[in-house]
Amino acid sequence: MRPYNGRMFKKILVANRGEIALRVIEACREMGIRTVAVFSETDRNSLHVRLADEAYCIGPAPARQSYLNIAALMSTAEIAHAEAIHPGYGFLAEDPHFVEVCEESKVVFVGPRHETMIQSGKKLECKKAVSAAGVPIVPGSGALKTEEELLSEARKLGFPLIFKASAGGGGRGMRVVQNEPELLEKFHAVKREAEAAFGDPTVFLEKYIPVARHVEVQILADMHGHVVHWGERECSIQRRYQKLIEESSAPALTKEMREAIWAAAVKAAEVLGYQNAGTVEFLVDESNFYMIEINARIQVEHPVSEMRVGKNLIQEQIRVAAGEKLGYAQKDIKLKGHAIECRLNAEDPSKNFAPSTGRIEIKSLPGGNGVRFDSHIFSGMDVTPFYDSLLAKLVVHAEDRPMAIAKMGNALKRFQIEGIKTTAPLCYEILQHPNFISGNFNTRFLEKNLPGA
Ligand code: ADP
Repeated sequence: MRPYNGRMFKKILVANRGEIALRVIEACREMGIRTVAVFSETDRNSLHVRLADEAYCIGPAPARQSYLNIAALMSTAEIAHAEAIHPGYGFLAEDPHFVEVCEESKVVFVGPRHETMIQSGKKLECKKAVSAAGVPIVPGSGALKTEEELLSEARKLGFPLIFKASAGGGGRGMRVVQNEPELLEKFHAVKREAEAAFGDPTVFLEKYIPVARHVEVQILADMHGHVVHWGERECSIQRRYQKLIEESSAPALTKEMREAIWAAAVKAAEVLGYQNAGTVEFLVDESNFYMIEINARIQVEHPVSEMRVGKNLIQEQIRVAAGEKLGYAQKDIKLKGHAIECRLNAEDPSKNFAPSTGRIEIKSLPGGNGVRFDSHIFSGMDVTPFYDSLLAKLVVHAEDRPMAIAKMGNALKRFQIEGIKTTAPLCYEILQHPNFISGNFNTRFLEKNLPGA
């Protein structure tokens, strides 16, 4: 482990639950940092509570009253003398207000500055800023207020189009429209939905790119102006705009396109004065790529990048949040082999992927050379309906893509649990599909190849 410069945190509060809370706790422990867990009443027996050095109950099961309760989190940080807070992903990870409260309370938020988060949280603003610096973006409108504006923008852009909520996220708030009657019909509904879901009714239109891949770049920046990327991730295997399988490298990109996407991501981070870890997302068609947004947090799929780079991204986040320099340059980052991640969600494929709840009984778990299983599950654990359905991330790393696919197939077979239904069988099916194996797929892979899913 790298020697620290004396300013490293002694104690970090982990404002999350599930696999990511465990991951942060373990990363801290390896660095000699003490950890403070927080939990809701229903999570009392969770692994993250057992593994942290200290744990505090912060409220009842509904997230609003516990994991999203800023007052409870800040007072816990105060009582426990935590010097920093790691937000994980989801919950408050991208809430600029929370970041600001941390900054004002002199508790270090492990993530970007609140100004950056305001900017990245507004897709429209973010697109405008990076586009001015020459990063290609999907052609689209500005904020749409009236029906006249809507029609004139739509006519300029041409159908098909996609409505997006400027403050949207998590694959929600998007609607594809094919013609003018549909456009007018959906306009007010999407505004209302955006207001209800994200507290901001701002919506805009983007040209819908029907045959596109989702390719994103992991970036990491310190406070001293150094930005590096950790290569790209291919995340086109999605169900209802939600990622299911991610991999690095992205198959079927030319060397020129790959390098141009990396450069655009670094440029976007520089323009925004980005600090800490983040992800720049792109859509890629036959010959072009367009930035769609920046996610100002650690992402679920970060392990595929870690496996190739051979560094711990959570520890890198903590180091740069403490003010350390990156200490290495782009040329020092070697991207090795191929990594794939499958998201194992508690969802029932026979019930249109509705959340599956119940008590888990573990029969067998994957493991072995090049197999990583990031999860908080244990036998006897109750899966409740209160939080997101991610149970585990199964990640493999091998010399090349065919070997990684084979390894993932074996690992998925060893994932056997009872008591709830999961997305593991669907992941297995995708992995065997000739169009997945060939690398010839896009974001509509599931609807085209496995229409029942
Ligand atoms: P969110 O912030 O909700 O995750 P994104 O903007 O990241 O939304 O988009 C999520 C997914 O939606 C993309 O990976 C892609 O599959 C699809 N998508 C988004 N914008 C477009 C577009 N302009 N054309 C086609 N598909 C799109």
